[in-house]
Amino acid sequence: MALIVQKYGGTSVANADRIRNVARRVARYQALGHQVVVVVSAMSGETNRLLALAQEIMPEPDPRELDQMISTGEQVTIALTAMALMDLGLKAKSYTGAQVSITTDDAYTKARIMNIDEARIRADLDAGYVVVVAGFQGVDPDGNITTLGRGGSDTTGVALAAALKADECQIYTDVDGVYTTDPRIVPEARRLKSITFEEMLEMASQGSKVLQIRSVEFAGKYKVKLRVLSSFEEEGDGTLITFEEEDNMEQPIISGIAFNRDEAKITVLGVPDRPGIAYQILGPVADANIDVDMIIQNVSADGSTDFTFTVNKTELSKTMAILKDKVQKHIGAREITGDDKIAKVSVVGVGMRSHVGIASQMFRVLAEEGINIQMISTSEIKISVGIEEKYLELAVRVLHKAFQLDQAN
Ligand code: ASP
Ligand code: MG
Repeated sequence: MALIVQKYGGTSVANADRIRNVARRVARYQALGHQVVVVVSAMSGETNRLLALAQEIMPEPDPRELDQMISTGEQVTIALTAMALMDLGLKAKSYTGAQVSITTDDAYTKARIMNIDEARIRADLDAGYVVVVAGFQGVDPDGNITTLGRGGSDTTGVALAAALKADECQIYTDVDGVYTTDPRIVPEARRLKSITFEEMLEMASQGSKVLQIRSVEFAGKYKVKLRVLSSFEEEGDGTLITFEEEDNMEQPIISGIAFNRDEAKITVLGVPDRPGIAYQILGPVADANIDVDMIIQNVSADGSTDFTFTVNKTELSKTMAILKDKVQKHIGAREITGDDKIAKVSVVGVGMRSHVGIASQMFRVLAEEGINIQMISTSEIKISVGIEEKYLELAVRVLHKAFQLDQAN
């Protein structure tokens, strides 16, 4: 007997038929003698619908009230899923995040889980129930409802698997696993049988939207065995997220091409080149809880330089306002410009640790297509470039081919 956490995304619970389908799968697992905890997202489109509704009332909705509202999407699907399970003759019970004490900090709309009281869930499982828990939501120490950021139900699934020491956390979605890149851009993209946590982290953070990045971090930290599967197929092993040290298979050098259209570039021009400047620019940005991704600063020829960094597109105007109000005069910068027509493309693979020349190969391939590289950043297992958004698909296609990701290995 195993304890399995199954998380179903919005498309998997998009209507009554699909919810019945989820219930049938859960029933099959229970019939094999497993204990099953189900985590569900809101029906697809529902969170967006609610967000739009809030914006009709208040252009920048109050975060507490926003969480109060957008958490309702999941409350609907947990009850429907429990009903579908009962309709099949199973014992089932649904819970909101607060009801099973998924305690978070108080950072509305992007809260972090601090603790889960798993006793209630365990008692229900031992009494033969399938336990259905609302994804994406928690409660802060003062009892306010919080949400975990878009795609946060993945994190709920992984956090529950960690708290319950589940044997596996299965993430069911509308694709049958993690691909070498987005098959909508490159039809030859292949499903990976396995990928390491670190690679997945890079793929997820680079915008391969299969898993929420925080869920992958969580799984890595608590050693949760994670598998991505399709909820629309009966068979299939999906993609297993492995730990590098456990993975004895011969790894390809490059596992995938990730990309991200969600970033915008900000350049602070004419910045004096002296100690403390990067802090003076990015300190106020961090204080506003805005994530910064790529950062570059040129060497100065004449004592002044340009400082460029990227933020999420949705935070471009806020960041520009902070810089203009609090930073520009203070440091004596000449001008601040914003550009949201950029995209980031990354080549990802743990094999980079032991192979040289990957970066130069990437830059050559882009040069041959006449694609200008505006920014570069690297980690041990990833090389990212910022390019003009209109070249994104071309860049992904040529890189996928150049690194022979279309060929089975
Ligand atoms: N319903 C939430 C969203 O759309 C959470 C999730 O689906 O994981 O972001
Ligand atoms: Mg999702």
